[in-house]
Amino acid sequence: MAVDSTISSPLGPPACEKDAKALQFIEEMTRNADTVQERVLAEILSRNAETEYLKRFKLDGAIDRETFKTKIPVITYEDIQPEIQRIANGDRSPILSAHPISEFLTSSGTSAGERKLMPTIKEELDRRQLLYSLLMPVMNLYVPGLDKGKGLYFLFVKSETKTPSGLLARPVLTSYYKSDHFKTRPYDPYMVYTSPNEAILCPDSFQSMYTQMLCGLIERNQVLRLGAVFASGLLRAIRFLQLNWVELAHDIRTGTLSSRITNPMIKNHMNKFIKPDPELASFVIQECSKDNWEGIITKIWPNTKYLDVIVTGAMAQYIPTLNYYSGGLPLACTMYASSECYFGLNLNPMCKPSEVSYTIMPNMAYFEFLPHNSRSTNYHGLTRESCSRLVDLADVEVGKEYELVITTYAGLYRYHVGDILRVTGFHNSAPQFHFVRRKNVLLSIDSDKTDESELQRAMENASKLLVEFNTSVVEYTSYADTKTIPGHYVIYWELLTKDISNSPSNEVLNQCCLEMEESLNSVYRQCRVADHSIGPLEIRVVKKGTFEELMDYAISRGASINQYKVPRCVSFTPIMELLDSRVVSVHFSQDLPHWTPERRR
Ligand code: AMP
Repeated sequence: MAVDSTISSPLGPPACEKDAKALQFIEEMTRNADTVQERVLAEILSRNAETEYLKRFKLDGAIDRETFKTKIPVITYEDIQPEIQRIANGDRSPILSAHPISEFLTSSGTSAGERKLMPTIKEELDRRQLLYSLLMPVMNLYVPGLDKGKGLYFLFVKSETKTPSGLLARPVLTSYYKSDHFKTRPYDPYMVYTSPNEAILCPDSFQSMYTQMLCGLIERNQVLRLGAVFASGLLRAIRFLQLNWVELAHDIRTGTLSSRITNPMIKNHMNKFIKPDPELASFVIQECSKDNWEGIITKIWPNTKYLDVIVTGAMAQYIPTLNYYSGGLPLACTMYASSECYFGLNLNPMCKPSEVSYTIMPNMAYFEFLPHNSRSTNYHGLTRESCSRLVDLADVEVGKEYELVITTYAGLYRYHVGDILRVTGFHNSAPQFHFVRRKNVLLSIDSDKTDESELQRAMENASKLLVEFNTSVVEYTSYADTKTIPGHYVIYWELLTKDISNSPSNEVLNQCCLEMEESLNSVYRQCRVADHSIGPLEIRVVKKGTFEELMDYAISRGASINQYKVPRCVSFTPIMELLDSRVVSVHFSQDLPHWTPERRR
């Protein structure tokens, strides 16, 4: 399509008129980052001036940054939990937002073991949609011809619950896939997916995945890009293919649908779609029955140009495995978002994963940045003085690390997200950020985020089972093992058994594994039980004296004896090798922990 040359963009020549508008929007927003931020804050404060929260801090209708910064405190979830609870219980007065709270988005971050509930309002869907609409115009600058085929995206809805007053509580992507924005999206040749809506919207994860994989296989030659939200999700799809290719090939050969697919919407759709294709079935069998799956993605989907998955942050651990299965296809990280707010996008999505930077879009919310001091590990130590050091979006400095603080249209004011970002440069006057890590997260396999205190509590609960054997855990550390799919938590224990003749049996130590899982947060347990995206927890008992050797090793590398603390999570290869060479026994959870969609509190 010929593009009006007057609507060119410094980002590059757009692929079509629609892209030109999107790129121009990015230019406008990033050129005027500070002005846009000022306007966004003024909008948020003026529309919410009469809310209980802003009145409590006597903002008195002020909409300027200075007054806002002097009067409104920086908070975490725990600070507004009472307000959130009131809304959940049915208080419809304007507590945080003048606009009615339309639902709660359940974050994968937890508070007291349960998912955090993030309030949202109807119009936020438009804001999220706007950010989504910018992704393909940017991608089209780097990868031509994406309108000539389809995307195989493994997308899922998760279970939802209702609060006592009947407000829905569900993950942000579930909310988006179930919205008309997604379900009745207008045809766009750059956004055609092999997965039918019926499969994406099926709450049964097996049936959903089976159908999405089946459709992806049937249309294998049309697939130009493969994706999932996070790297762990795409690898789960590969694992699914390993486990189910015989049945999938059977369906393709016969043009019928497995009896395990019972969802009427899927059946109805697939009965019209699936036709016998013995040639394709033989191909699937030929490729999948090989022992070596290296490069399987490019063999089955030969026209794939890139994998669209997030591999930044905790997901970086999956890069080698993705490279193995894809023969090194480019990995595109396109956006940075959360339940609280969608933040921004990667303007150079085909760059190497280690070079990914996200440009925060100044129209999404009002953003502030707390200079990150790696020595201060606890947010609650934040003083008024350190809060006064928060800087604005346009004022961050290249090379420095910051913690993200947001003020949203939905009614979060100076909310501490928990992400640590480093400034890598600017696009116009909008900074670009490398995602460094999530604060306080020790272990993560999928969307779970386990912190040190959760691990400690799980340890304490599990070690109670050892009391009757006169045994205690002297030291422990942990490791997120992602060599197998799904990955799993490994906990190294050094035990002190007073009476060898009464030492804990294998069964007791297996039980300890399960007890630890029972004590971990609901996101972990959901991944274990409903999503099967985390495998059984493993305890590796190591020889007496192993942790002393670990300390000796650290000191030999320059750690101070006085300040040495056992790391509660390890990943450095020599340390792993040391620990693994001292293992005396290995134990696994033999059962699933308890999990239901309902919240415990
Ligand atoms: P949730 O609240 O469950 O939606 O999780 C949001 C969190 O996921 C963010 O605050 C980040 O910690 C993480 N996250 C989201 N997008 C990315 C990304 N592109 N790279 C790294 N981490 C991300």
